[in-house]
Amino acid sequence: MPFTLHGIGVSGGYAIGRAQLFSHDRLEAPHYVLRREDLKGEIARFEEAVASVRAELINLQEHLPEHAPAELSAFLDVHRLILEDAMISEAPKRRIEEGRCNAEWALAQQTQALIDQFEAMEDPYLRERKHDVRQVSERIMKALMGHPGQVPVKTAGEEASVLVAHDLSPSDMVLFKRHHYAAFITDLGGATSHTAILARSLNIPAVMALHNARALIREGDVLVVDGVNGVVIVDPDAAILEEYRIRQDQWRLEQLKLKRLKKSPATTLDGTPVELLANIDLPQDVQDALEQNAAGIGLFRSEFLYMNRDDLPDEDEQFEAYRQVVKAMKGRPVVIRTLDLGADKRLPWLKRDSVNPALGLRAIRLCLSEPPIFLAQVRAMLRASHYGDVRILLPMLANLKELEQALSLIEMAKESLDISHIPYNRNTPIGGMIEVPAAALAAEWFARRLDFLSIGTNDLIQYTLAIDRTDDSVAHLYDPLHPAVLKLIHHTLRTGTRLHKPVSVCGEMAGDARMTKLLLGLGLRSFSMHPAHLLRVKQQILRSDLAEVAPLAARLLRAGQPERIQSCLERLNA
Ligand code: PEP
Ligand code: MG
Repeated sequence: MPFTLHGIGVSGGYAIGRAQLFSHDRLEAPHYVLRREDLKGEIARFEEAVASVRAELINLQEHLPEHAPAELSAFLDVHRLILEDAMISEAPKRRIEEGRCNAEWALAQQTQALIDQFEAMEDPYLRERKHDVRQVSERIMKALMGHPGQVPVKTAGEEASVLVAHDLSPSDMVLFKRHHYAAFITDLGGATSHTAILARSLNIPAVMALHNARALIREGDVLVVDGVNGVVIVDPDAAILEEYRIRQDQWRLEQLKLKRLKKSPATTLDGTPVELLANIDLPQDVQDALEQNAAGIGLFRSEFLYMNRDDLPDEDEQFEAYRQVVKAMKGRPVVIRTLDLGADKRLPWLKRDSVNPALGLRAIRLCLSEPPIFLAQVRAMLRASHYGDVRILLPMLANLKELEQALSLIEMAKESLDISHIPYNRNTPIGGMIEVPAAALAAEWFARRLDFLSIGTNDLIQYTLAIDRTDDSVAHLYDPLHPAVLKLIHHTLRTGTRLHKPVSVCGEMAGDARMTKLLLGLGLRSFSMHPAHLLRVKQQILRSDLAEVAPLAARLLRAGQPERIQSCLERLNA
């Protein structure tokens, strides 16, 4: 009997295969009391287990697949850092001594205490890190109990398998990629978990947050994984299988066709050129942007340089990172956003608690309260401007006074470079993100003081609709097509046109091919997105005629009612 499970589709595509169960279930830790004279030996046994996990992680890192995404190495670094933290590698030893207990029991108790601490954290990003702690602890536990962790081996050419796990760690994903699984599904994992981020960049169909797939699915069950809709069908009948085989073929064909668009200019049917830019998080991602032939980098989220470390990157380190991207882009524009930390992107050194962090000291607000950090970053960006087309982008502007303060700090950075005779482009364009309704409504005044604008729809939707973008319980209300959101986008685009200031969209909406014609119709000519979405969006652009999409977009803008909006969108995309 077929049955269906619903989760979050974190990576598109379809797969059909047999379930291969992967157990990450908590290992039962035995508990026994030791004689005093055995404690030293038990501590040595624990140290050996930690050493073998250290070697295992180093080995994984040294054997990363050739095209492994840049984040993988960073995730392994995180696991190594956790392993070296005294809370994991030392505290259990104290527990062995004080409780005269075996190493497994000491580790299990310590892990639970740490997880409780993480669960009490308000920041959803930090809360998610409890999974990393658990995964590292499980590796040590397996080493103690004599069976090292391993993803079941699967080689190319065998019957397709779907890995079914309660939870998967990023380092498991390394092996997973090497062993050619058709898809993976997990019980746990939020949309912001490391594994979800990796899944997206690996481009493997994946569905997460299925809650009890691991318990309901048996080894060898036939599964259909629909990463597009976040659905898993267990034991599908012949008709369902046939339907999904057709979808699979269509998907593969589409991917092949899309590749052929790489070299084509992004121009609408009526000959209007459209700029397609890439969003990147780390310098290494620039390769993906080049592979998809992006016209430039429309958003370099510089805050990722500050993550997974205890110290701050200094000016020189940042300069090298920016210069690397700028040189790789060979004269194409590189828009580097100044630090957007705070809200869900909190770091331990920020140490600022806020009841409502998304409305607190975030992004430009945080930078203005820490001028030395901001100045070092801006100096690094300006220095990189000597090597190519650098543009500086200020996030989360809401207030014109903030803009003036930021601009005067940028002037200060320039003066200090002048004094030291360090070369930079004096005319480096400065832009502002429109991601707060106040900024969209006041776009005219921001545009007058800036060289360009970039609409961050992820936050613009969050702040317009008062919906926390990281909160699952209100995710269904997160609506890019809400008339208020569309009006703010439209108003910003019109203001840019009137004042001859370029406007782009760099939020997820820009990479969603269902929105391409609508955005074109509303007047957008510059889209910035994850490189993986670029060709699909280009395909839509090649199929668009502005004389057709503009009136339909105008009608959608006036529609108001959700059903009418949907039917307008369908007509646009027909
Ligand atoms: C946005 O808010 O749309 C955006 C691009 O910024 P981020 O997703 O980094 O907040
Ligand atoms: Mg944003």
